[in-house]
Amino acid sequence: MNNDHHEGTTLEYLSQLKLSAQEVAGHFLADSNTLRDGMRILECANRLRTYSDEAYGTFFDTWYCKHRSCPICQWRKSLRYCSKLHRTLDQNPSLLQDKWIYLTLTVRNCDVSNLRATVEHMNQAFRRLMNRDFWKRHVQGGIRFVEVTESFLVDGGLNYMSTHPHFHCLLRVSPSMHAGVNYVSELQWAEEWQQALQAHYLPIVNSRRLAGEDQDLRNKIISATRYSMKPKVNTSARSWFLAAARQMRGLRLVESFGDMRAIFTGLDTEASPGSIEGHDEIRQDHNPLVHFWDDSSGSYRSE
Ligand SMILES: [Zn+2]
Repeated sequence: MNNDHHEGTTLEYLSQLKLSAQEVAGHFLADSNTLRDGMRILECANRLRTYSDEAYGTFFDTWYCKHRSCPICQWRKSLRYCSKLHRTLDQNPSLLQDKWIYLTLTVRNCDVSNLRATVEHMNQAFRRLMNRDFWKRHVQGGIRFVEVTESFLVDGGLNYMSTHPHFHCLLRVSPSMHAGVNYVSELQWAEEWQQALQAHYLPIVNSRRLAGEDQDLRNKIISATRYSMKPKVNTSARSWFLAAARQMRGLRLVESFGDMRAIFTGLDTEASPGSIEGHDEIRQDHNPLVHFWDDSSGSYRSE
């Protein structure tokens, strides 16, 4: 156990997420087909039991709506995933002796009405990429995250919302990948991804080595994961948001592959003392503060 398991946060941060969640709920409530989604998200984290601890920061017990579009629940999911990754690194310390890269694979922006088809096409392309010799030679395993962002374009006097689906990948790679004749450049990644996509253009690809060892590497792996799973708080364009939520329904956003999948499967699921689930001692020793969400002031207030 060490303090880097610290997953505490502040009430201010949760308040910001709550405001975003209300905005998301408002979008769903504006469409008669998604009223239930809106109602559910509005109820998320309305009443908190707040614990503060020097080692772990602040954490909350509350009811979470678990809706995939809820920014609070997205944040929560990312905390859980980082906690699982910490546990994985604790139980498999040799992972921190390995080489890791953070790879971003993109495609050209699409219209939101084509979002689902585009992501499905990217999923197929990713499977093709994993079957390529290049990949088999260099990549042992990893985790893939799907992210969809909106971009506002001005084109010939027309303003419209464009959709930018992309993958972030955390990859464990063979040590030779960064050495001598085996050195793999970003251009090479882009060409491999282009082939897998069967695209006539060279897609934008970004590859970054996570250099360092032990604690240093651990921090980089965790922060790359946190970045890849960051909650979506910028959802002001209602029609785009609703269309994107509809298109993405049921699609998997995080997936492990290669030997990382096996490592996750073999993970001892016992909560480690530093994880979110393992805070019982603090719960027993501290009296929680109770906060409730106050709509009129748009903030949490203590009882
Ligand atoms: Zn929620």
